[in-house]
Amino acid sequence: MRYDAAIIGGGPSGAVAAAELAKSGISTVLIERNLENVKPCGGAIPLGLIKEFNIPDTLVEKKLSKMSVRSPKGRMIFMEMPNGYVGMVRRERFDSYLRNRAQRHGAEITEALVKEIKRNGNSHTVYLSKDLPPVEASYIIGADGANSKTAGELGFPPNELQVIAMQQRFRCCDTLKPYEELVEIWFDGEVSPDFYGWIFPKTDHIAIGTGTEFRKHNLKALQNRFVEKLGIAEKPYLDEAAKIPMKPRKSFTQDKAILVGDAAGLVTPANGEGIFFAMRSGKLGAQAVIERVRNNRPLQTYEKTFRKLYAPIFFGLQTLQSVYYKSDRLRESFVAICEDTDVQQITFDSYLYKKMVPAPWSVQMKIFMKNIYHLVKGS
Ligand SMILES: Cc1cc2nc3c(=O)[nH]c(=O)nc-3n(C[C@H](O)[C@H](O)[C@H](O)COP(=O)(O)OP(=O)(O)OC[C@H]3O[C@@H](n4cnc5c(N)ncnc54)[C@H](O)[C@@H]3O)c2cc1C
Repeated sequence: MRYDAAIIGGGPSGAVAAAELAKSGISTVLIERNLENVKPCGGAIPLGLIKEFNIPDTLVEKKLSKMSVRSPKGRMIFMEMPNGYVGMVRRERFDSYLRNRAQRHGAEITEALVKEIKRNGNSHTVYLSKDLPPVEASYIIGADGANSKTAGELGFPPNELQVIAMQQRFRCCDTLKPYEELVEIWFDGEVSPDFYGWIFPKTDHIAIGTGTEFRKHNLKALQNRFVEKLGIAEKPYLDEAAKIPMKPRKSFTQDKAILVGDAAGLVTPANGEGIFFAMRSGKLGAQAVIERVRNNRPLQTYEKTFRKLYAPIFFGLQTLQSVYYKSDRLRESFVAICEDTDVQQITFDSYLYKKMVPAPWSVQMKIFMKNIYHLVKGS
């Protein structure tokens, strides 16, 4: 079969791209290796995403406006978002909903593993598993995650900074009752020496996980220690793990192909947030393909727009991670700074709506001085 666009991967980035293209009348096929895939993921999404992409309430299992942050010494900071919440979704339901939406808009969905992609002049041939006939497409969108086959086949530069994260799902029980209505984050070298640990509640389970730089530490041992520190004796009913690529590839656009979401490395450092950026890049990427088909505008506008919108957020969070995630002393200082209500306000505003609104000068000075104080004091 021949299409204008073939999207490889049916996670949030691919599904959003497929819906956007199909809505505009571009013939689109989305190829997903496993339509029952359960992507290892905390499923925490910001309010801004829920609004922008019209995510129905039935998919958002919890709307959490309370959060607590724990330091290595056990200091707890409690915070509340006055005007927003973090939504908790279950990826198996979320991804399937987005794919069905794309299908309703007219995208074709094929279940197959993409094995090879060959460029033939102005087109591509995509070879599939299960003896399915190859697909011909003018444009390729690689939405196939951190280990993107598309990127390898089409010669994109490598996905660089990668964290590996693991999560376990525990059925709700008495021990876990205190975690049912808030987001809890642990900054503790024993749980993660270079990232953080999280506790995210869903309707019938609590997801507990941690991450660390790929191949640097024993992830399973860190996760076991986290669960032990929480005093959980119950056994998880599901263990899941995957890489998180937290640095955009040097380039994620070619003249007739683009990468979106994790395939492009679009997960923010420090917090490992990827769902929003996957969906936003899927949408921006698809819009660039539409402009290319209709008006012959270069696909490069996609990458330029993405970087212009989000490079400051990536830079800010990368700086935060490199300064504060290096030792328990620094993590202790970081948690101390989180007590400041202005810091909380700035953090929530930028997380919920992905807008970097500069704080007034006096607030910036106060936060700067507090940073210096806590860094010197080490608490
Ligand atoms: C443990 C963990 C916890 C996380 N928690 C959060 C969180 O709470 N909030 C948040 O915002 N982000 C979180 N993330 C990051 C988030 O999961 C990703 O950024 C997001 O899933 C990226 O979406 P995507 O569509 O780009 O890629 P993916 O969701 O990885 O989807 C890629 C799809 O491509 C398919 N595929 C791969 N190769 C092929 C092939 N050759 N042929 C056909 N199909 C293929 C896969 O089956 C998959 O469905 C977490 C990540 C991990 C690992």
